[in-house]
Amino acid sequence: MLAERINDLLPQTQCTKCGYEGCAPYAQAIATGQAPINRCPPGGDQGIAALAKLLKTDTLPLDETCGQHLPLQVAVIDEQYCIGCTLCIQACPVDAIVGASKLMHTVLADHCTGCDLCVAPCPVDCIEMVTVSPVRVWTSGDAHASRQRFEARNARLSRPAHEPKKQETTQQIGDAVAQALAKARARRAAAATR
Ligand code: SF4
Ligand code: SF4
Ligand code: SF4
Repeated sequence: MLAERINDLLPQTQCTKCGYEGCAPYAQAIATGQAPINRCPPGGDQGIAALAKLLKTDTLPLDETCGQHLPLQVAVIDEQYCIGCTLCIQACPVDAIVGASKLMHTVLADHCTGCDLCVAPCPVDCIEMVTVSPVRVWTSGDAHASRQRFEARNARLSRPAHEPKKQETTQQIGDAVAQALAKARARRAAAATR
């Protein structure tokens, strides 16, 4: 199906900068001729060229009203100000933030797509987007991994709360939280001794 082939070429950050709810709805809009191919800032010129090739059409310059094509960004939480409201977790489409209610939250940098959807909901403005160091671009491998996390999250959210799997997921999240908090404490301790 054409929309699926188009979606395969999109970066899968689910950032909504194209003006659609995610990559798949944008792909559907392109496939049905309702959207041009130049509305995806994370994909940039390379992404537009790939879409143009698939659709046998001319390339276009990126529509920068949707945003600029930037090197990969990552969200960083200033943990000393985090109040543990969980709003950023709810906003993150790929489960890249761990934490629990009233506890400090942390970004799993390897999972972060740089979509910046967690920034606006934070009531204390303690999330900042920074350029990944060393600087690098988003790859098709990143897109594949991001899509898997996005789909796993959707599957989890659509499961009835009483399903046995929930127990396992809660345990996994608990482990991830414990690991992330331990890392954060170690970072803070290292910073304090500098
Ligand atoms: S990555 Fe591109 S296609 Fe996907 S939601 Fe963001 S702007 Fe839209
Ligand atoms: S942590 Fe923030 S910037 Fe990173 S993927 Fe999640 S919502 Fe997007
Ligand atoms: S939205 Fe901000 S204050 Fe709330 S948990 Fe996330 S980082 Fe902490």
